[in-house]
Amino acid sequence: MASSTAEKGRVAQLVRQLARDYPDATCSLDFKSPLQLLISTILSAQCTDERVNIVTPALFKKYPTAAALAKAPIADLEKAIQSTGFFRNKAKSIQGCCQKLVADHKGQVPRTLEELVDLPGVGRKTANVVLGTAFGIPSGVVVDTHVGRISQRLGLTTATDAVKIEQNLMAQLPKKEWIAFSHRLIFHGRQVCIARKPKCESCHLLKWCPRVGVKEPLPR
Ligand code: SF4
Repeated sequence: MASSTAEKGRVAQLVRQLARDYPDATCSLDFKSPLQLLISTILSAQCTDERVNIVTPALFKKYPTAAALAKAPIADLEKAIQSTGFFRNKAKSIQGCCQKLVADHKGQVPRTLEELVDLPGVGRKTANVVLGTAFGIPSGVVVDTHVGRISQRLGLTTATDAVKIEQNLMAQLPKKEWIAFSHRLIFHGRQVCIARKPKCESCHLLKWCPRVGVKEPLPR
């Protein structure tokens, strides 16, 4: 994490290579509005994006607005999102969030981090996802499990706490890269730098990667 010229050059190489490997990387949650992305991101906690994408079309058809979600019978909401796990808490968060959107923001999703994290069930990660992906506002770096793990392996952070990892990444990356870098690391984590067995021998980042914490030796 040193801020030497060499380290800055290494980070720049990582950013460039990830852009070459994943030029079109983006959020894999389906959404047609900032509200849909906000709700989908709440649902994606401890759940795959694929599963969320299965559940949301029917949910948004039945409850297309923040006002409709705010007034939905809670048991009905729970049933609609049950397969995403932790459905009671998620239903409570979605309803609380939508009630505040209606009360304070005319049913619209606000565009600042401060206003977003003030909504029930919305943390910094969800706020960064919505601002970055729905509005193109680089408010921070989205740190999910892939981004955290790969940032450690790449030697970009020694932290394990998502907020500290995000601070380390924000300090080292140009602001214009914050949104794309996160999407690209998520793609890289799914395809190459896999949690259990990273495919280092075929990884295009290997040249600049210290492989921190990776036990498997490279094949000779
Ligand atoms: S070289 Fe290995 S540890 Fe480093 S980013 Fe690539 S797959 Fe991950």
